[in-house]
Amino acid sequence: MEKQHLHKFYQKNRTERIEALAAANIISEEDKLALTDHLALPEETANHMIENQIATYQLPYGVGLNFLIDGKEYAVPMAMEEPSVIAAASSAAKIISQAGGFETTIQERTMIGQIVLKDVPDLEAAKQVVLDHTEDILQKANEAHPSIVKRGGGAKAVEARPIAADDQVQTPDFLVVHLHIETLEAMGANIIDTMAEAIKPYLESLTNGAALMGILSNYATECLATARCQIPVSLLARADYSGEEVRDRIIEACQIAIVDPYRATTHNKGIMNGIDAVVLATGNDFRSIEAGAHAYAARSGQYRSLTNWTKAENGDLVGTLTIPLAIGTVGGSISIHPGAKFSHKLLGNPSAKELESIIVSVGLGQNFSAIKALVTEGIQKGHMGLHAKSLAISAGAKGEQVDVVTEKLKQSKNMNLATAKEILEQLPN
Ligand code: NDP
Repeated sequence: MEKQHLHKFYQKNRTERIEALAAANIISEEDKLALTDHLALPEETANHMIENQIATYQLPYGVGLNFLIDGKEYAVPMAMEEPSVIAAASSAAKIISQAGGFETTIQERTMIGQIVLKDVPDLEAAKQVVLDHTEDILQKANEAHPSIVKRGGGAKAVEARPIAADDQVQTPDFLVVHLHIETLEAMGANIIDTMAEAIKPYLESLTNGAALMGILSNYATECLATARCQIPVSLLARADYSGEEVRDRIIEACQIAIVDPYRATTHNKGIMNGIDAVVLATGNDFRSIEAGAHAYAARSGQYRSLTNWTKAENGDLVGTLTIPLAIGTVGGSISIHPGAKFSHKLLGNPSAKELESIIVSVGLGQNFSAIKALVTEGIQKGHMGLHAKSLAISAGAKGEQVDVVTEKLKQSKNMNLATAKEILEQLPN
């Protein structure tokens, strides 16, 4: 990556940005053509992807720059509708890269399939019978999807969890059997669902119960990704705050998000701004990642911050983020959607583990940027500056008018649509 070509990337126009990425050896000539064509989704592909398809719906697609993750540089693809997210990610990544970059730890990628059994006469006895027949259960599960076994993955372990009746909300007892499945490069929903459904009759016969359902759990607690960064206070100082003050205020901002669910929800939303954008750009299932992240945030019984910011012994600021990341590099829409295919190529066709490293780092960087802005100049200064452009366009500004209206709007007392329209009307035709 020849980074000098990326200088003031945000000030370039779209064509210049594409040229800059090519000059920096991040994309090829062929990629330039794909981007010029806006990574268009062919009608036939779109029609096969969903039911009742009538059009394609586009989102802006950008790159988060300056990411240094486990010693490797990345331009990270991000698809999203909200202004300021990519700017914030890139700015965080720049500071963190000066501090040595992100370091990540990725757990072995094991997914969980659940088979729920009801009307089980003796839960504890049934649990024991299930565990005693672990090898048979694994064999039957693997026979249902032999190709993943041939690749080196498949069902590896069985757990059983009796869930006692809850008289308060009047639910009966259940026995929930978990299959732990290695899905390798795939997110694995279809592999897991196939296996979970295939072993239902056998589990019914073992437990004398009746299967209610078999499906994956999106609470992927056996597929955790962690990112860490350590930032010296010298990189944190702002005009009105010393580096130590910024560090301490970031730590306090995290502490309030650990204890207050109202704050934690917004804090975590900021993390998901970056995570969803990369998950979506890489053709992965963002609903699954969202559901898993929020369940993990509530694992103590209370919904809390997903990140943790603390002070190192030498006074540096240390940030960590751990999150379930059941993403894939194959399967779903990944190999058929032009945008998804492009994103994987842009990242150097990473393995699923490497992609987890990238995504969790973006989440941590996004959180750093958001809370740093919140506890110093406030979030509106940067956010509304970028939002001004959306207002100018909403007011009807076209071509060169967009920048003129945006600049005047930034200086106006009331940055809203009505003011944007007034400014536009006053411009010479
Ligand atoms: P697919 O079934 O589309 O693809 C996975 C398949 O890719 C594997 O079964 C395997 O098939 C093949 N494959 C090729 N190379 C590899 C490799 N190196 N490692 C692993 N598999 C490989 O996708 P998933 O099973 O991953 O399911 C993801 C989709 O399921 C997403 O679109 C998601 O939205 C959706 N989904 C999500 C649910 C949820 O989250 N609750 C529920 C249901 C669906 P083979 O070995 O036969 O070649």
